[in-house]
Amino acid sequence: MPTRWYDATVIGIMNLTPNTRQFTLKIEDVDHFSFIPGQFITLDLPVSEKRLDRWRSYSIASSPSDTNTIELCIVRSENGLGTKYLFEACNVGTILKFKGPDGSFILPQELNQELIMLCTGTGIAPFRSMINYIDQNNLNFNKIHLVFGTRYASGLLYSEQWQKLAQKHPNFFFDFALSKEKFQAFHHGYIHDIYQNRYIDVSANRRFYICGWSGMVDQAVENIINMGYNRSQIVFELYG
Ligand SMILES: Cc1cc2nc3c(=O)[nH]c(=O)nc-3n(C[C@H](O)[C@H](O)[C@H](O)COP(=O)(O)OP(=O)(O)OC[C@H]3O[C@@H](n4cnc5c(N)ncnc54)[C@H](O)[C@@H]3O)c2cc1C
Repeated sequence: MPTRWYDATVIGIMNLTPNTRQFTLKIEDVDHFSFIPGQFITLDLPVSEKRLDRWRSYSIASSPSDTNTIELCIVRSENGLGTKYLFEACNVGTILKFKGPDGSFILPQELNQELIMLCTGTGIAPFRSMINYIDQNNLNFNKIHLVFGTRYASGLLYSEQWQKLAQKHPNFFFDFALSKEKFQAFHHGYIHDIYQNRYIDVSANRRFYICGWSGMVDQAVENIINMGYNRSQIVFELYG
């Protein structure tokens, strides 16, 4: 089947942290945009003459709904062409071209395993989609542990939402790790310390989902395998 390209109008831009924004897109010419939580879309941004140099992928940060809107959670990349455009030239009303959804970073069929979700920065986006989907559809799940890392407390993403969900679901909980700052009771250090201590007793009924940039993802995969887990218990999405 030929790739379908869509036009999407930017209908909202919200600052989430000093360098991260949520973009809300309304997809034109469809009533409903269908995707599986965890999937991404690919924007064709006007930043180069060459087609392939214009493409940037972004995980969908919202959960599927009956509407034609989706949310993206995007961090400004230093010297990055795509995010320079998105942060400096893209406004409410701008039309973006995209293809998708794509990707196989999705929840397992059964939620009867423990799901440990590891991420840094905007790697939290697909997990927000998955967790909101589970919550909004009242799906039964065994346990979800979200472990989110960032440098400073100012980089925390959607923290109020995680707190509310943890109050609502006793089997959902989260940890924040701040690598460059001591703040409240949050872990001071990297996310790796958290799962390495907590899941040292290997269980076959546990699956690790990891999302973010290669430095963190590669390290987490290596650590989890060294802890004695099977490679098949690890699923990851690499941002670059
Ligand atoms: C499947 C997929 C889903 C993605 N989802 C998201 C998402 O939801 N949110 C999001 O912000 N980004 C996401 N990305 C990354 C995104 O596609 C771009 O790579 C990013 O926005 C940088 O684009 P740029 O044009 O500004 O920088 P470029 O000029 O393309 O990149 C500059 C270089 O820096 C690296 N880089 C960029 N940002 C970082 C960073 N923060 N940490 C470490 N290295 C970095 C890139 O890999 C590249 O090598 C995703 C990538 C993939 C493949």
